[in-house]
Amino acid sequence: MTTELNYTAAQQYIDEVFTQLKEKNAHQPEFLQAAEEILLSLTPVFEQHPEYITHNVLSRIVEPDRIISFRVTWQDDNNNVHVNRGYRVQFNNVIGPYKGGLRFHPSVNESIMKFLAFEQIFKNALTGLPIGGGKGGSDFNPKGKSDAEIMRFCQAFMTELYRHIGPDVDVPAGDIGVGGREIGYLWGQYKRIRGAYEAGVLTGKTPGYGGSLARKEATGYGLVYFVAEMLREKSESFLDKTVVVSGSGNVAIYAIEKAQHYGAKVVAASDSSGYIYDPEGIDLHALKDIKEVKGERISTYLNYRPNATFTPGCDAIWSIPCDIALPCATQNEINGDAARTLIDNGVKFVAEGANMPSDLEAINLFLDNDVYFGPAKAANAGGVATSALEMSQNSGRTSWSFAEVDGKLQEIMHSIYTESKEAAEKYGFAGNLVIGSNIAGFVKVANGLVSEGVY
Ligand code: NDP
Repeated sequence: MTTELNYTAAQQYIDEVFTQLKEKNAHQPEFLQAAEEILLSLTPVFEQHPEYITHNVLSRIVEPDRIISFRVTWQDDNNNVHVNRGYRVQFNNVIGPYKGGLRFHPSVNESIMKFLAFEQIFKNALTGLPIGGGKGGSDFNPKGKSDAEIMRFCQAFMTELYRHIGPDVDVPAGDIGVGGREIGYLWGQYKRIRGAYEAGVLTGKTPGYGGSLARKEATGYGLVYFVAEMLREKSESFLDKTVVVSGSGNVAIYAIEKAQHYGAKVVAASDSSGYIYDPEGIDLHALKDIKEVKGERISTYLNYRPNATFTPGCDAIWSIPCDIALPCATQNEINGDAARTLIDNGVKFVAEGANMPSDLEAINLFLDNDVYFGPAKAANAGGVATSALEMSQNSGRTSWSFAEVDGKLQEIMHSIYTESKEAAEKYGFAGNLVIGSNIAGFVKVANGLVSEGVY
């Protein structure tokens, strides 16, 4: 009887919060999708922690602390003046300073910024390191821009952003369209304006001016360390497994590198123009040359490997039969149809390198069809965890070796996996890492909110 009453109260509370959230954010589908995915997991937590209802933690967690939106004016090489919109969503700083990347992509809008910042809260909590949740970016399209134009845009962006961030306040990093070069320009402008060397204000810096070794590799490597834990659980390993990776950016390239290191055969990769299929295994030197050195389209891979194929458009990449699928490009790249095709072709493990690459239908199909599924907030947390290690090195004015950082990353991924698995078991959902990671991250933030008191 008590359980039933608690259930009703918990369920009713979550429903009410989500209904209000939908009313307030009707035009933000990505944010609502991310919120729904987490809220659906939390009923058993509220059953066991009625104090979370008393403190109304859910309403407090789903509302960002603040959303900063600003004009970014910059000049192209022909002296034309352009205006873009910049954002920083400071969602929650219960556990530490706001922390999360910057995305420069034409699709950026407030909904996408909020979904990413919201996910970041729980991902960052899962790392066990003292970092809160935030995200930012701009609808600026870096494609086709000259180096000087990128620099002027980054300087203009930081000219407003600097007043909202700081090593103990909010620490941005890279994301889609923001790599080492952009972080360098952003850092230079911040330092110039502040007149101080606050290296910990940005992460993803190049080693040499405060960047951490292994940060560039961390998200992709961390993803593969996480999948190695999933495989071990099922008494399997990467050896001789066929892997499909989407994307060919920072996350994808280093996921491919580590999966190959463990003996897997990675047969596909993509960019926004289409995908390559190389049945003998991707030549990573060629892919790095195309993407990291020359910045070319992925179709030029055929110049290196004439037996490979290029297919325009990205959807059909999931029709390639594989044991392990690692979506590492962007949100909602695996829908229900793609998930069904992967399952029909025998996929056994899916883990998300990108943020929210699988929609809710796809996730449910994986869970219902015995596919072991590693959700983004756990599986791709290695990047932000290593960013937090970069912050520690900056605070201590020291730098650790590649092996030291990589060793810590492996430990962190192991503990994220274990915590997610154990939380799932504790709350009656053994084997469901979606629920496990949501709960493990949420409980840390909720406890912090209860301790802080109401304000
Ligand atoms: P990059 O900009 O380095 O690479 C993104 C890759 O995805 C590119 O190959 C890009 O192709 C491709 N891509 C973008 N949009 C699409 C699309 N609609 N369809 C197919 N391919 C597409 O970004 P990252 O590798 O850094 O980020 C990838 C994902 O991982 C994002 O979801 C990001 O939020 C997430 N992530 C990144 C972390 C990091 O440390 N970098 C940390 C945690 C998560 P093209 O070059 O043609 O645009």
